[in-house]
Amino acid sequence: MNVEVHNILGFRHIPKECINYISKYMTTQYKADVRRATEEAMVFLNKNIQHSSDNLDAWIFDVDDTLLSTVPYYENNNACGEEMPVLLETWMKEAKAPAVEYMVELFHKIKGRGFKILLISSRKEHLTGVTIDNLMKAGYYGWDQLKLRCPADDNYSIKEYKAKQRKKFKEEGYRLCGNIGDQWSSLNGDHYAIRSFKLPNPMYYEA
Ligand SMILES: [Mg+2]
Repeated sequence: MNVEVHNILGFRHIPKECINYISKYMTTQYKADVRRATEEAMVFLNKNIQHSSDNLDAWIFDVDDTLLSTVPYYENNNACGEEMPVLLETWMKEAKAPAVEYMVELFHKIKGRGFKILLISSRKEHLTGVTIDNLMKAGYYGWDQLKLRCPADDNYSIKEYKAKQRKKFKEEGYRLCGNIGDQWSSLNGDHYAIRSFKLPNPMYYEA
C-alpha cells in the first residue's frame, strides 16, 4: 500500500517482509477484487454509455496483469529483493502467460457491444509477435489496435507514453469510453477515458 500511494519510492523488487502478505492476497482476495472491477465496468457500460452508431466508441485495455497474468513468472522467480534469475522479457517471449481471470469474458462482452478495443502496453515493440501470439492463445481476438513501445517512447515515462497513445486515438476520432489497467500509470495523465478501472497488483509498481 505504501508503494502504491508513493510513500515508498524507487521500489523495484518485492521486499522480503511483504512476500507472505502478497502471496496470501494473490491466492485469496485477488480474484474477487478483479471480478468486482469487471462487474463495475459492465455496470458503468450499461448505465452510463449511450452507444453511438458511428463505430468510434472505444475501450482501452492494458496488457500485462490486465489481460495476461505475469503471476506464474513472479511465482517461479521470487524477487525477494534480488535480481530475477530469469528476465521477465525472456519469459514473455515464451508467450505462455495465462489470461487474468474474468478478463477474457469482459473483453468479449465489451467487444460484443460494438466497442472498438484498443490495447496499450508498456512492452517493447520487438515483442509484438509474441504478444499477439500470447493474447490469442489466452482467448483474446478481434481488437482494433495494439500499441507497444517503440524506441522513441523510451524518452517518456510509462504514464506519459500511455497518455500520448490515448491522445493519438482521440485524434483518430475514437471516443475513449473506458480504460482498464493494473497500474495508475495506465490510467492517470492527460486524455483520460470517460471512466477508468484499476485492477489490483501488489507484485510491482510502474510509474
Ligand atoms: Mg499492466
